[in-house]
Amino acid sequence: MSCNDDPVIVVGSGPTGATAAAELVRAGLPVEMLESGTIRPRGVIVRAAGNTVFRWTSSDGADTDRHRPSNSEAEWLSARALGGLSNYWTGSVPRFNPTDFDDGARIDERYRWPISYADLATYYERVEKVLEVTAGRSPAGIPAAHATHRQEVPGDWVRVIDRLANGQDDSTPLGLMPMAKGSPWMVALRATEYNSYARQVAPLLDSANFRLHTGCHVVRLERSSSDRFDTVVCIDRSGDERRLRFRAIVLAAGTIDSTEILLRTRTDDHPDGLGNNEGVLGAYLHDHPRLWSSIELTKDMCTLAHPLYLSRAPYDETPPMGGAGVTLGLAMQTDRVRSWFRRPVDRLGAVTFGTMLPRPEQSVCLDDPSTAAHPDESHLTIDASFADRDHATVDEAVERCAQLLGDGGVPVRSVTDTPRGVPGSAVHYGGTARMHSSREFGVVDADNSVHDAPEVLVSDAACFTTGPEKNPTLTAMAISMRAAELLAQRVA
Ligand SMILES: Cc1cc2nc3c(=O)[nH]c(=O)nc-3n(C[C@H](O)[C@H](O)[C@H](O)COP(=O)(O)OP(=O)(O)OC[C@H]3O[C@@H](n4cnc5c(N)ncnc54)[C@H](O)[C@@H]3O)c2cc1C
Repeated sequence: MSCNDDPVIVVGSGPTGATAAAELVRAGLPVEMLESGTIRPRGVIVRAAGNTVFRWTSSDGADTDRHRPSNSEAEWLSARALGGLSNYWTGSVPRFNPTDFDDGARIDERYRWPISYADLATYYERVEKVLEVTAGRSPAGIPAAHATHRQEVPGDWVRVIDRLANGQDDSTPLGLMPMAKGSPWMVALRATEYNSYARQVAPLLDSANFRLHTGCHVVRLERSSSDRFDTVVCIDRSGDERRLRFRAIVLAAGTIDSTEILLRTRTDDHPDGLGNNEGVLGAYLHDHPRLWSSIELTKDMCTLAHPLYLSRAPYDETPPMGGAGVTLGLAMQTDRVRSWFRRPVDRLGAVTFGTMLPRPEQSVCLDDPSTAAHPDESHLTIDASFADRDHATVDEAVERCAQLLGDGGVPVRSVTDTPRGVPGSAVHYGGTARMHSSREFGVVDADNSVHDAPEVLVSDAACFTTGPEKNPTLTAMAISMRAAELLAQRVA
């Protein structure tokens, strides 16, 4: 790899781009961040004694219709804004289980990650410190988080958890969801506690080796002369094309946008896009099947202002990649007010995320590669649908949840489900520039470098080999931090 004076470019200021940039700046490299968005969505948060007493979030910058209508029902929510989707996120940050990295290999080698939990363990901890995670007693199967702030399980829920544990503390499937809530006391003019722009990018602006370009929409990469990619083409605020040189580039524009940049990077030896000689780029798209349920209990229980998490059924009791986890929290906003006064409720809100088996035909592709790129139109077709098994996994998890609550001494009176979410509605897309040790099944290698173009990295969830049922952002950030650290060692 070149050791010239050109900067390392990071594309995107969401959680994965911010994490990569912070790591590269820390390593002393010249770093330039290119961010398509120009606005900082408005918001207000007031937290007192660990309770969020006021939150207001504007939806500025969020966009649901940047892809062309296709015959699939898929949705795509993206945010061309400083901080990306972290302006709107909830902040649930469970770690993946070590088995998540090879559970899919029980079906086929194509589902085996080239990295393991051990490769990420230290990065999980470092990212959790950045996120200022609030955590406590974890459920079985979720490795304990580094907790900046401790949270106790509320009174009567301790008894439920103890009953389910049956004397073995580490086997209880119910525990606290680690949350990126930040300080228990906070007044901030932003929409979310951890917002990647406010918490990671803005502090870099004082660094001599960091520069942020906003309103700079990356379109494709080019090679100027040599055999390596060294130029990024972007559209600036005035609509003009601009070229910037790099020694390495980290794509962290979000799963779909990073994939589009690679699809638009076409050369004689990569005629269908960079990393696509085996037809893998854009394929294996996955999201989480998602179900929101309202659970009526037969007795009053403490309100869950901090959510509980019912982790997936044990791996040896489910089909490969057949996990679903349930987050239990407030059924309605008025219950939050009840929680301040320690008033009990007889209802819960439950969000269930299941694993979607990534299939090659689930994909993102360019409608017509000759169409000019435009920041507001991506010209992509997103083709994704859930298989019956994906829905069944979620339905079974909701039934298991009701069963386990009963076993724990809180019988459930009724469960009312809302209509199932379509693909994309969980906002957990991943997999379209997946990581695999073989080019046949992967776009990037174990270090997040594109096979055959080590100077180009993809560090957002596009690199996920599979999408286990857990919320993805913590793992995506840990991968991005690791990729940036390894890159810094190579180019420094
Ligand atoms: C309501 C909601 C709740 C959520 N809750 C959770 C949760 O509890 N836990 C969890 O793990 N995840 C959650 N998520 C998902 C989480 O927000 C995303 O996984 C995370 O933000 C992805 O980070 P990223 O950096 O990869 O991408 P993004 O946050 O999407 O950031 C990408 C950035 O790249 C920029 N960009 C895009 N294209 C280009 C281009 N061509 N050139 C230059 N810049 C570009 C964008 O403007 C954006 O700033 C939630 C999302 C939503 C909407």
